[in-house]
Amino acid sequence: MTKLHDLIAARIAATGPITLADYMADALMHPDHGYYATRDPLGAAGDFITAPEISQMFGELIGLSLAQAWIDQGQPSAFALTELGPGRGTLMADILRATRGVAGFADAAHIHLVETSSTLRTEQAKRIPNATWHDDVTTLPDQPLFLVANEFFDALPIRQFHRNPNGWSEVQVAVQDNTLIAGLSAAAPIVLLDHRVKDTKAGDVVEHCPALPTIIQTISQRIAAHGGAALIIDYGDWRSLGDTLQAMKNHAPINPFADAGEADITAHVDFEAIANAAAPAKHTRLSPQGVFLERLGITQRAHTLAKNLSGDPLDQHIAAHRRLTHPSEMGSLFKVLGLYPNGAPPPAGLEP
Ligand code: SAH
Repeated sequence: MTKLHDLIAARIAATGPITLADYMADALMHPDHGYYATRDPLGAAGDFITAPEISQMFGELIGLSLAQAWIDQGQPSAFALTELGPGRGTLMADILRATRGVAGFADAAHIHLVETSSTLRTEQAKRIPNATWHDDVTTLPDQPLFLVANEFFDALPIRQFHRNPNGWSEVQVAVQDNTLIAGLSAAAPIVLLDHRVKDTKAGDVVEHCPALPTIIQTISQRIAAHGGAALIIDYGDWRSLGDTLQAMKNHAPINPFADAGEADITAHVDFEAIANAAAPAKHTRLSPQGVFLERLGITQRAHTLAKNLSGDPLDQHIAAHRRLTHPSEMGSLFKVLGLYPNGAPPPAGLEP
């Protein structure tokens, strides 16, 4: 049993079962024992790998989409180039390298990173030394906001509800024989799921991310007031349906309640919830990642990079291109949604 397991079990013994969201918050973000607080989980030696760690092309194309949005909006002379949950800082480093040739962009950009893990902040500072760090989005400056979030929203805690004839039962974490287990609360009507009564039936599972609407509203208000754009990339779909909770350790799935703080726990992102919170900014249509990257020219970029490669590195490069774009890999499981202000075109690669 981990130290965090004991802390959570003691809390439940004292105050009763907790929601899945409360469990995830501790398991991922506990300042001393949380999964992200205690390690760098990315890469082949870690528990999972993300698009920017697969190929530099991902960050390069994101950078060009954001730079095009900056040009489309009249090249504001000072703006917040922002990333939520930057991991190792690889994506932001690729964005900065790819946009070096865009006249005026680097001088106007002030880099802001929203990250709670001090371990990962240290890792990010190695690649992005001149950034300003934030615990959450509320302290971002009142400036045009050009933002990317890749695999950030999937790490936010969710609540999970099971539909039954008398309302909804919520998944709760309890203790049995000194083991953390998932149980269900008594069924009750849940106001925040009233809009899901019509399109679900008994037995269906619906997830809700409590932190998401406020984060999106904070970003959208800045984009609407000062200009900017947001690219939100994650796995998920338009409307939450089904149990998507997943725990990963050493690139393999494990029981999310087994080793609290030792596994990455995620859930699919409900992009409709992002769209619903997007006002006063506008949101784009949801695009599969593969389509988005193709529209931005990933195949051309892949050919250019391939010219200088041979042998194993060339094989790896071809595999990385496929992994990012192919429908049977990340190409259609991952989706992209953009936010942008009234009167501006949508970010390059996305449709209004
Ligand atoms: N975007 C990176 C890393 C994804 S992992 C990549 O694509 O490689 C998730 C990242 O979000 C980590 O940096 C993690 O520490 C951070 N994170 C998770 N929950 C967070 C929260 N509530 N607030 C701020 N950062 C968070």
